[in-house]
Amino acid sequence: MYEPQEMPQYAHFMTSGIASVVVETPDGAIAEVNLLGHEALVESMHLLGPTPMLTRCFMQVEGTALCMPFKELRQIFLQCEPLRRWVLQFVQNQAALTSQIAACNRLHSAEERMARWLLMVQDRVESKGLPLTQEFLGQMLGARRSTVALAASALQAGGLIKYRRGIVEILDRENLALAACDCYPLLKGLLRSLYSAA
Ligand SMILES: [Zn+2]
Repeated sequence: MYEPQEMPQYAHFMTSGIASVVVETPDGAIAEVNLLGHEALVESMHLLGPTPMLTRCFMQVEGTALCMPFKELRQIFLQCEPLRRWVLQFVQNQAALTSQIAACNRLHSAEERMARWLLMVQDRVESKGLPLTQEFLGQMLGARRSTVALAASALQAGGLIKYRRGIVEILDRENLALAACDCYPLLKGLLRSLYSAA
């Protein structure tokens, strides 16, 4: 969707699927700092000013978006007050979400974060089975493959998920929410507040 340090060519109003916003270090390690679904204008941060974004964004679960040239949206953003108000509300929401995820990445266990992450993905795609490789899950959680395998097998042993051939299926949503860290209800509240904002 966009690359670090570059102004995007297009703006995407997502209508389905999941995009991940990640930071990649020079040695190639990746950690996810945000996750976007049908609520998102992917390039909203870029609209605010000239600071180059250090993140990269890519589709992770196939989806659709309405799309327009970024420069045109930037022009409308400057002229159209209702659109600007909406974008600012969305960006504020994303700032709250990103800081919670930053704390979560540092403070909570891989198992808790995996549960939190799977629930966030499922809140945005209505499918039961999520196509996710262990390598990819590791990137999303900023964890080693062995840590991811351990966390996945703990969740699987509890009957919360089924993980087979790169597909994660959520079997018990209620208990998966109990296995997730306290960040999940907060992050879910942030997603809900976007839709209730006037
Ligand atoms: Zn957390």
